[in-house]
Amino acid sequence: MTAQTTIAGALDRRLLMDRSVPGRVALTLPASDVPLQAAPSADLLRKGLDLPEISQLDMVRYFTNLSQLNFSIDTNFYPLGSCTMKYNPKINDEVASLPGFRDIHPNQPDEQVQGALRVMFELQHALGEITGLPGVSLAPLAGAQGEYAGLLIARAYHESRGDSARTVAIIPDSAHGTNPASAAMAGLEVVTVPSNAQGGVDVDALRKLADNRTAVFMLTLPSTLGLFEMNILEITKIIHDAGGLVYADGANLNALLGIVKIGELGFDICHSNLHKTFSTPHGGGGPGAGPVMVAARLAEFLPEPVVVREPAAAKSSLSATSHHGDAEPVEAHHGAKPYAFAYRLSRPPKSTGKISGFHGSFSILVRAYTYIRSMGRDGLRSAAENAIINANYIQAGLKDKYALAVDRYCMHETVLSAKRQHARGAAALDVAKRLLDYGIHAPTMYFPMIVEQALMVEPTESESKETLDNFIQVMRQIDDEIDRDPALLHDAPHDLPVSRMDEATAARKPYLRWQKSG
Ligand SMILES: *Cc1c(COP(=O)(O)O)cnc(C)c1O
Repeated sequence: MTAQTTIAGALDRRLLMDRSVPGRVALTLPASDVPLQAAPSADLLRKGLDLPEISQLDMVRYFTNLSQLNFSIDTNFYPLGSCTMKYNPKINDEVASLPGFRDIHPNQPDEQVQGALRVMFELQHALGEITGLPGVSLAPLAGAQGEYAGLLIARAYHESRGDSARTVAIIPDSAHGTNPASAAMAGLEVVTVPSNAQGGVDVDALRKLADNRTAVFMLTLPSTLGLFEMNILEITKIIHDAGGLVYADGANLNALLGIVKIGELGFDICHSNLHKTFSTPHGGGGPGAGPVMVAARLAEFLPEPVVVREPAAAKSSLSATSHHGDAEPVEAHHGAKPYAFAYRLSRPPKSTGKISGFHGSFSILVRAYTYIRSMGRDGLRSAAENAIINANYIQAGLKDKYALAVDRYCMHETVLSAKRQHARGAAALDVAKRLLDYGIHAPTMYFPMIVEQALMVEPTESESKETLDNFIQVMRQIDDEIDRDPALLHDAPHDLPVSRMDEATAARKPYLRWQKSG
């Protein structure tokens, strides 16, 4: 049915070790270019080393076949709500692998890495512009760490004003699980505010909760139901009047880019996942980046480092490197004196400290910077518009078959409910597993938890109308299969190398390494 079917069918499932034949080798070691050294004493040596002996061709086939079992955005449609599997344009990877970015070391002195620091400085500036929150630290390594960094800033702000009774974080019941977890880790007490029937914050309930113990209100915008918060201005005012700060979980800014600035809605702090909104690849626990952005009055609390720019003349050591013509291209091109500026890492005066080693996920920062620069202001806005129209196209194409969590125009993602399908004998999980047989990655399932049988679909801006039409048609066909042949759903996936797994033990007791059989 799919390309994967063919590969899986023909796949040699033996592990590398089981392909071992004594005497076969995959490579020859080069002659040693260092003097021979005596081996460590015998008691430190293993008796024998059980390594596979295999020819190069067998090994290449083994690993190439393994790599083709990966499901990725580069191979198939991946409509994972909230977690945004956005296409990563190849130019991002090309720029990130330029030797001047790839081969530098985080311990190099600022003078030697002016280009890299400038990229960071300009990315800080771009994120400050996009969010309307000009204080930026790129240090957090993930969305959750950005939340944690932002909440530490909120605490430090209140404490600096002697307002130390503010220890409560108010969080909606629809929030991503990392929100209450980060708040608890930052030493805050979590209080939940319910959602209203339109999927927004219950404003009356919020008004009752906001008081002189409120440190921060955390809100995901658009909400995890994929909806814009209609009462946002009233909400930020309620919290500010109570003396609290308002935090935006901007992990996913795909619906807002270039359309509205978080800061102008009254938010004081936000983080954004570069690995969702700004196209850098993620998944499988790979590196991410979750910069934290704050209003100007909170910038002194940012985690270190932040990159600052100052007149180069102040740093005489920089002029000594002026024969490297690449440190200040823009100023030079504009005819200004080369090296008008110098960039350096700095610690904000009341910094909450280091949140990660060194500079953050530098190669991820370069990818996000490349995405932002190559899209430009208009490109980012049209990405947001396309993300929104794509999600609404899917919603409109499915809402007669699948219930909607809330029947409203959505933003960049739509939350369907498989409750009708469930009543007919197929759960959201079965629908999701059956999608795999059609070469489509499962949407986010059972989240947000306030929606029964949730299937959260985010097509992103880059998918074609044909891909969206195919998804709609497949989802409708799966709905038909429930009545025709329910086993097709219950036993799915049928055509992948791994069939239906036990969801709990697959996560809790995974086999991650070769185990000697017998
Ligand atoms: C993904 C996500 C997070 C967490 O980001 P990580 O990089 O996985 O830590 C937080 N909030 C929302 C709304 C998200 O979608």
